[in-house]
Amino acid sequence: MGGGHGGRGAQRPLQELLISRHRPAGGVQGLHCKQNVMAASDHPRPIEISRHGAHDVAIRWSSGESGVYPARYLRGKCPCATCVDEVTGKRIVTESLLPILVYPKRIEPVGRYAIQIFWSDGHSTGIYTWERLFEMLPNLPGSAASQQATVQ
Ligand SMILES: [Zn+2]
Repeated sequence: MGGGHGGRGAQRPLQELLISRHRPAGGVQGLHCKQNVMAASDHPRPIEISRHGAHDVAIRWSSGESGVYPARYLRGKCPCATCVDEVTGKRIVTESLLPILVYPKRIEPVGRYAIQIFWSDGHSTGIYTWERLFEMLPNLPGSAASQQATVQ
């Protein structure tokens, strides 16, 4: 038996810790998760996030709605502390201050509740939650309704 490493003993508690941290969530899942899922499904979630045109972002929601988020508009709604004064809540970086051409270079999921957008202007600290994105839906420059009306 080559178990001469003292590390074995040290490794175990960590694993147990991980397991025991994991288990309550997993074990009670049958009961608790149902409620969580119900709560989560209360809020629409994106089924599909894709690029629209050259730069814009299209999101299809679980509620059946979909919208195109113009890149610059979305960048102008960045919720991070650099773009919005945390104390006053006043927006510091508005659309008019942005480069004419600004677009997402990369979009990455954050947990199961948000996306992080890496912008062409180097900015990437903004987390766009589903809630925030969904709230924008009716106010999009070309809202889903008007788009459907123009698409034949
Ligand atoms: Zn920002």
